[in-house]
Amino acid sequence: MLPPGADAVVVRHGDVGVKSSSVQADMERRLRDNLEAILDDRGIPGDVEREWGRLLVRTPEPDAAADAAADTFGVVSASPAVSVPAEMRSIRGALALTARECYDGGAYAVDARRVGDHEFTSHDVNRLGGDAVWYAVEGDVRPEVDLDDPDVTFFVEVRDDEAFVFVEKRDGAGGLPLGSQKPLVALVSGGIDSPVAAWEAMKRGSPVVPLYLDLGPYGGPDHRARAEETARRLSAYAPNYDLRLRVAPAGDAVARLGEEVGRTRMLSYRRFMYRVAERLAERVGAVGVVTGESLGQKSSQTAGNFAVVDRVTDLPIHRPLFALDKQEIVARARDIGTYRDSTLDVGCDRLAPSQPLTSASMESVLADEPDDLFEWAREAADAVEVAGEVPA
Ligand code: ATP
Ligand code: MG
Repeated sequence: MLPPGADAVVVRHGDVGVKSSSVQADMERRLRDNLEAILDDRGIPGDVEREWGRLLVRTPEPDAAADAAADTFGVVSASPAVSVPAEMRSIRGALALTARECYDGGAYAVDARRVGDHEFTSHDVNRLGGDAVWYAVEGDVRPEVDLDDPDVTFFVEVRDDEAFVFVEKRDGAGGLPLGSQKPLVALVSGGIDSPVAAWEAMKRGSPVVPLYLDLGPYGGPDHRARAEETARRLSAYAPNYDLRLRVAPAGDAVARLGEEVGRTRMLSYRRFMYRVAERLAERVGAVGVVTGESLGQKSSQTAGNFAVVDRVTDLPIHRPLFALDKQEIVARARDIGTYRDSTLDVGCDRLAPSQPLTSASMESVLADEPDDLFEWAREAADAVEVAGEVPA
């Protein structure tokens, strides 16, 4: 809900505040840059200021700007607000107008905070502002004050010579500003899980380099297009980072795994995949690999099999969805906007053997694995293309 005349967005950030002051300043700067990039990408005019441990966006489009802020990693909440001079008359006036627009019954409270020198206290704002709300609406509804459990809260933030009035705190993405951690290679298949995993890593500050393995007949053009669309969706959260899908040709390798390897096929496939990711990581300066795996979701995702496949690389394999149930992953995919594309039917062939091992030993994997598997991985990684780019 927008207060009439809204011309700003108050943006709160979380974890950023608990770091040392130089780290905090650096994070706030990043947060501001990232928010500016999203505003710019969406064509929303606005200036972002850093003030009093928050960001403030001055904008003629506070509704869209608040949504943009809520999509910025590191933001806890965002409130479209109207700014007025920090005088009791102006604050009361803004509260009255806002009440007429945004309050149609139930209990209310005024919740004021104040920093700076003023002739009134925040308690005065609560009291006199509360009266202003009451008088503004008493002809239309039966107002009721409840300071402990209000249905509507009128927030007032008084900072030096300005005051901001708002009624809403939109939940933000949370986490840390993107770029505050080192980059990771994210294995993105375009299914439901992997985009969510990549998003979670971004949420905690790591830019991701999305990598898709083109599996030939086991994937297909629609499968690849789905992964590309996923990368585009993710890049809406990070328009100032390069999230174009990197595509590694893996059709031949996978076909041979299908022919040559039996019950441990999926484990060797994963070892191959991690090796491709590792080599790309070296090239782009990434320090780990992110996957959409979760414990027990598939035969290749058991605790025992993770222990075996992870030994193929020294890089950490991060699994942000490790402990989530499928419904939780689906809910998150819907929230972040990747679900619809993920569920398009792309009709690819099945690589998994009919009786995969759920707890393979290292020896059994190595016994069946083609000797030149890592050579294939190296070749696939060296042939990585950027989706949408015409090869030279
Ligand atoms: P998702 O897990 O994204 O829903 P999926 O279920 O098809 O896709 P799984 O077989 O569960 O994939 O694979 C586990 C993880 O391995 C994926 O989450 C993803 O990180 C990675 N992965 C699988 N296939 C590919 C691929 N073709 N390219 C890149 N990464 C892949
Ligand atoms: Mg999966």
